[in-house]
Amino acid sequence: MPSLNHLSPYCLNCYAPLPPVPGASFPCAACGHLNVKADRRIFWTQERRLREFEQLAKVLIGVFLAGISLVLLQGGANHRGFGMGQGWAVGFPLLFGAVLWETASKITRHKPYFRARIVWTVVPLLFGPPIAFVGTVLALQPSQSDVSSPTLVLGAIFGFALTGLGLGSHRLARRIEAWKLARIRAGLQRG
Ligand SMILES: [Zn+2]
Repeated sequence: MPSLNHLSPYCLNCYAPLPPVPGASFPCAACGHLNVKADRRIFWTQERRLREFEQLAKVLIGVFLAGISLVLLQGGANHRGFGMGQGWAVGFPLLFGAVLWETASKITRHKPYFRARIVWTVVPLLFGPPIAFVGTVLALQPSQSDVSSPTLVLGAIFGFALTGLGLGSHRLARRIEAWKLARIRAGLQRG
């Protein structure tokens, strides 16, 4: 699939073509948006609706993280000291929040160093199928394991859900990339 970086320069607001001078800042002839050199390196779009969508997503992520922190503080107050379990309980939501935040940033930004596809597709597909397999095999032979069967069934369901997430986000990521390209190409042709 061709990447966004190989397209000719376009306006970040309406995707009309810009003069092909690398690295220069231009006001768009079609919509008047000032395409600043630094912005064009960071953003694939500056369209208002998409900027607002990103801001909304980040507010929701902030609320989610604040909620998780409150629950964890509440939980921490009921325990003495912090063990490995609590360390994971704090670390995992924070990591998940950071991943959500970076993913939301991709709504308007290039962010080449954050590979959403690896986080949402490769990692779930690496862990999902083995967890689903082991969970299912052990759940079918409860006497073979020390773990209770409801836990094993939950583990198997988690494994299948993770696998589904990996497959679903693979398709979704392809669609989103195609949608971005189509949007820019349509603007380039209009201009
Ligand atoms: Zn424009």
